[in-house]
Amino acid sequence: MLNTEEFLNSSSNFLIVAGPCALESQEQLENFATQSHGISCVRAGIFKMRTNPDSFQGLGKDGVAIVKELKAKHHFQFITEVTDPRQVELLDGVVDAYQVGSRNMYNYDLLRELNLMHKPVLFKRAFSATVQEWINACGYMPNLGEEKIILCERGIRTFETTTRNTLDINSVIYLKQNYNFKVFVDPSHASGIREMVRPLSHVAMASGADGILVESHPSPDLALSDKSQQITPTELNLIKEELIKLGEFYDKKVI
Ligand code: PEP
Ligand code: MN
Repeated sequence: MLNTEEFLNSSSNFLIVAGPCALESQEQLENFATQSHGISCVRAGIFKMRTNPDSFQGLGKDGVAIVKELKAKHHFQFITEVTDPRQVELLDGVVDAYQVGSRNMYNYDLLRELNLMHKPVLFKRAFSATVQEWINACGYMPNLGEEKIILCERGIRTFETTTRNTLDINSVIYLKQNYNFKVFVDPSHASGIREMVRPLSHVAMASGADGILVESHPSPDLALSDKSQQITPTELNLIKEELIKLGEFYDKKVI
């Protein structure tokens, strides 16, 4: 749904994008795809930007082949993070939209490259960027503009260390009231705590967001990255059911 007119041209949809933090194996992604009912847009990291260089860095090229096969079988749309302009050509065969992660919000060469690709970009806010700096960075992708850039609020760094980040819900409300960008919330990275994903997903809808990006893994405790914040596909399905009900009040169709 991500690249269809239906989502990008309408303000009444609420899109759930979900999947494991990192693509770890064919079996893992296939289990996610079969266990998560009705998730039309899957996100899984193929190239991971890890704070610790010794952590799992993603499957790279092998991951692309896995996604190609599973897309053909399960008919989902796919989004993954691109971390370097040199990955764009390889990933273009498999993505319906690109994700630019927090650590790359200021990677202007990457943004210039994506500007040439005509696919939507899910553009995450850097940990310490102001809303204005985030908007300014969008200026490096003028061909995409407000129609094809989806801003994703994933929490910012504050003095508070109880949770991984602090979800700046103000930014979502402000952006929706002042711009025509689509705006997403990432409740997983915003909190870092799986029990917080459900209430923060409700908050996302109440704030006027156009969707959420949720990390979900068939066996969260075995995840190679971000295990404490990943929810099971069963929990994800439950959240979707609840959002469908909330959507009746907020006038949003959950897709
Ligand atoms: C991610 O989405 O897996 C990720 C690394 O997020 P962020 O760039 O927001 O840290
Ligand atoms: Mn992650």
